[in-house]
Amino acid sequence: MPTSKTSPYDVIIIGAGVNGCCSAYTLAQAGLNVALIDQDGIASGGSGAAGAFISPKISKAGELKEIMSEAHAEALAFYTTHFPQFTLVKPLLHIANSPKEGEKVESFKHETHLKHFAIPHKIQALLSAEALNASSIYFDVGAVVDAQGVCNAMAEGIDFYLLKIKELIHNEGVWQIGALQAKHLVLTIGAYPKLLPIDYVGLRGIWGHRIDIETSMHIPCILHHHVSISPTTKGATVAIGATHDVHYSPFSGEPYDVEQGRTILIEKASHTLRLNNINIIKDYMGLRSGSNDYLPMLGNLVDAEATLKKFPHIRHGENIDPSEYLYYPNVTMINGSGGYGFVLAPYLAKRLGEWLVERKELNPILSPSRFFPRWAKRQS
Ligand SMILES: Cc1cc2nc3c(=O)[nH]c(=O)nc-3n(C[C@H](O)[C@H](O)[C@H](O)COP(=O)(O)OP(=O)(O)OC[C@H]3O[C@@H](n4cnc5c(N)ncnc54)[C@H](O)[C@@H]3O)c2cc1C
Repeated sequence: MPTSKTSPYDVIIIGAGVNGCCSAYTLAQAGLNVALIDQDGIASGGSGAAGAFISPKISKAGELKEIMSEAHAEALAFYTTHFPQFTLVKPLLHIANSPKEGEKVESFKHETHLKHFAIPHKIQALLSAEALNASSIYFDVGAVVDAQGVCNAMAEGIDFYLLKIKELIHNEGVWQIGALQAKHLVLTIGAYPKLLPIDYVGLRGIWGHRIDIETSMHIPCILHHHVSISPTTKGATVAIGATHDVHYSPFSGEPYDVEQGRTILIEKASHTLRLNNINIIKDYMGLRSGSNDYLPMLGNLVDAEATLKKFPHIRHGENIDPSEYLYYPNVTMINGSGGYGFVLAPYLAKRLGEWLVERKELNPILSPSRFFPRWAKRQS
């Protein structure tokens, strides 16, 4: 751990998941002096559990689709160019897991600029009747990254501090975080308890469990269906994941039933193909942090108390332009990526860098302040 003599930093980043590590990498590449902090180590939260597929989001036309499609292209280029040793490029077959999803797949096929093809015979031969009969889309290029490997590689050379942050102090234009100081603070703490009173930020923790297995079956491509089944960067190891559990929280103190999670994963995988001689090698579990409107968040944080004091009638629906809200000074948050944190991280980190270095405006659609007016109305 470096001593704090290198302080003050240009930027302190709290949270060393994929968003924190990718931001640290991008800002350091842009010449900023960065400190990265985590209470449990690099990729110890949701990021360390991720299957980390760099897959397109199958969604209908709209803002979310535009952002996800740009992010997907940037992520493929980012990981294959800068971290090829942690990136496995393989064809990708996305199979709808319900008739409703089938409709999305069919409209995506018509709208996407991504090249897609008929499923090769050797892959068809592996699939169950359910998988063969569902709507699907096959791309000859998909990717999966080694989540922990790539986060550690991005954080290499960055000053890292193993610290649990309890309070954020801002004094005379400087953020004081323990013994460290910086003008700018970046919060990338995922689904963990918030460090500022920002109750308006709508986030949900979605628990996920995935497993690495050995099997006698060769998996030639990345398969997304009820769960994902995929080759990995780790030789013959196959990954199966992940569950989506909105009810379980590790912060509840309740124990998590690992055996039940494994059973669910293997049962779901059996809808896609028959896996022979399964031996479970490792379990990975963590929380995704999803926003209420499915868009990620990148932006400054409204000081709710000060803003409500200045504009008390927001509570009664008065329409105030977000540029007039009062914001915490020099704090930017990245969060809310849901199940697409690895797809979105390079896109969000790039825009964070452009904002901090070139003062290029952030996209207001991604601002966490979008949740403020509705929350404020409920405070009356
Ligand atoms: C099972 C599973 C499978 C997934 N599969 C994919 C996938 O295939 N593709 C994809 O793109 N995404 C996937 N995701 C989603 C992706 O992992 C998340 O979107 C991403 O990890 C979010 O990263 P983050 O950096 O925002 O948060 P996290 O990785 O959760 O990091 C937050 C960090 O902040 C630290 N922290 C919190 N509070 C404090 C504090 N007070 N002081 C110090 N440190 C603190 C925590 O220790 C943690 O390390 C998956 C997630 C899960 C759980």
